[in-house]
Amino acid sequence: MADIIQLLPDHVANQIAAGEVVQRPASVVKELLENAIDAKATSITLVIKDAGKTLVQVTDNGVGMSVTDARLSFERHATSKIKSAEDLFNLHTKGFRGEALASIAAIAHVELKTKTEDAEIGTHLTIEGSKVISQDPAVVPKGTTISVKNLFYNIPARRNFLKSNPVETRHIIDEFHRVALAHPSVAFQMLHNGSDVFNLPSSNSRQRIVNIFGSKTNEKLVPVHEETEILKIEGFVLKPEFGKKSRGEQFFFVNDRFIKSPYLHHAVASAYEGLMKNDIHPGYFLFLEVEPHSIDINIHPTKTEIKFDNEHSIYAMLRATVKHSLGQFNIAPVLDFERDKGFDTPYEYSKKSPTAPSIEVDRDFNPFKEKPKQGNISFPFKRDPSIGSGQGSSWESLYVGLKDETAKISSLDDIEFESEEVTGSLFENSEAETGQITFQLQNKYVVSPLKSGMMIVHQNLAHQRILYEELLKNITVKEAVSQQLLFPLQLHFSKPDVEIIEKIREQLEHTGFIFSELKDETIEISGIPVLILESHVVNLLNQLVQDIKEEVPDSGFSQNDMLAKSMAASMAIRTGVSLNREEREHLINQLFACKEPTVSPTNKPVFITLDANDIDKKFM
Ligand code: ADP
Ligand code: MG
Repeated sequence: MADIIQLLPDHVANQIAAGEVVQRPASVVKELLENAIDAKATSITLVIKDAGKTLVQVTDNGVGMSVTDARLSFERHATSKIKSAEDLFNLHTKGFRGEALASIAAIAHVELKTKTEDAEIGTHLTIEGSKVISQDPAVVPKGTTISVKNLFYNIPARRNFLKSNPVETRHIIDEFHRVALAHPSVAFQMLHNGSDVFNLPSSNSRQRIVNIFGSKTNEKLVPVHEETEILKIEGFVLKPEFGKKSRGEQFFFVNDRFIKSPYLHHAVASAYEGLMKNDIHPGYFLFLEVEPHSIDINIHPTKTEIKFDNEHSIYAMLRATVKHSLGQFNIAPVLDFERDKGFDTPYEYSKKSPTAPSIEVDRDFNPFKEKPKQGNISFPFKRDPSIGSGQGSSWESLYVGLKDETAKISSLDDIEFESEEVTGSLFENSEAETGQITFQLQNKYVVSPLKSGMMIVHQNLAHQRILYEELLKNITVKEAVSQQLLFPLQLHFSKPDVEIIEKIREQLEHTGFIFSELKDETIEISGIPVLILESHVVNLLNQLVQDIKEEVPDSGFSQNDMLAKSMAASMAIRTGVSLNREEREHLINQLFACKEPTVSPTNKPVFITLDANDIDKKFM
């Protein structure tokens, strides 16, 4: 048989290598920013267009490249950063593989302009798909500008695989944050489609965090500091009360390199033990310094994982240091999670002076009238006069002996509850009503007899399903009605979070939000969806932003769908909330008016049924 093995041409090898280095525009951003840092730049500008799909450009004022180096920099395994294998164990630079530029040039249109300090004239080089198109002398300032255009232009499959612009932008901003946080003394600027996203002057670490995440962050930071022979720890942890339900700001840097480490995360989380509820995650910005030879950063191609020689000591030291810092700032005694939940006040209300409770009475209420033609989203705590209306008629036939008791609904039931922590005792009178055909189990399930047996409905999941379908309709087809706020709500978010909200503003407005201002770090809201409480708005928006940031790649769902899911999850009645009779019936009626009553928006079963025959069997 003839020989069949041949060496792959360089451009093919480069394309294959690119698959590992460049997954998305954010990978290009990371490599270019790191190169600029390695070139000792003190000022770096990142410009992107269309979430980096059309352009990623990084300009630095670093050391620049000679004519020969400019050409060589695009060769594979061409690097100025290591010379021998030993150097791998004494790395002081971000890059060392010499692969990034070669990979990027294989799958994009690349343009390089560069000049060193002492050169008279610089170089202008253009490369497309690993082929040098032109190389000319050029008059350029000291430093380097690399423009990467039309990423994956020659690999349509990869290009199609890219996510929506908001998702790709999110990834880019994440990379930008990581590099900018690790190098506070370097000035950074970021522009997207011509407008300023970040403008970060040279500063210290605390200022850098505040400049990125918003001025409110300052008061949340607890400084951390420790220095031993094997490890130096600097940085900040967030006070426990600012922990988040979803993983928010969690940053580890080892020798100025952003890393992910579940092991070190565990060390920090365990330092918060007893200070935070289990499902709340701490925030932190921790900068660790170790001897370069005591780590191996080579175990992961995209270099966000590293291996420490002395993992256990580092774990113990990190945990102790964080614990100590939290203790020093007298945080521990303030919190007592054993206290009666009934005394909890929603955070925004703790500083307000008490006001007399208001009672909303619907004087036009007529239980026999048709449901008003509003885009209302049903929320059991704001009573909807349509209770018992025709909506769920097919469902009602399943009931045995349902008595029409709607006329008994008292206007006192229209009391609005500010906090979902309110316990069931308030409802006791109506609970005591006799003849009800539904009841609640553990403030979590609504149990109802069926002709054929019984049904157990999960109240939270059922309400999520109801809200999800309504919200989706509001976002895509018909707009919902808003309730005007007497005093506009001023909320503070970080700048990037405000941008996320700006991007989904239109959809949010369809659900009933009215934004009177959206800029920098402030959001002013003058109207909210009819059926949510003002005190829930902050949590809802926070959760929404988090969910968008963490949108699962490849989930195949549209952003509208995600939005509806996230809002439904935030707005739905929780488990632990007591429901009175007509709330329970209303919930069930609405559930069975849904298109898909059996599953929650997150694909969990909403109810189960027990057949009378199965029950009979238990007694045999
Ligand atoms: P690595 O960073 O691993 O060395 P790269 O492919 O990213 O590999 O870059 C190759 C080489 O090009 C670098 O080693 C460096 O000498 C040079 N280079 C890249 N970007 C810059 C820049 N912004 N300024 C100066 N030199 C650069
Ligand atoms: Mg590099």
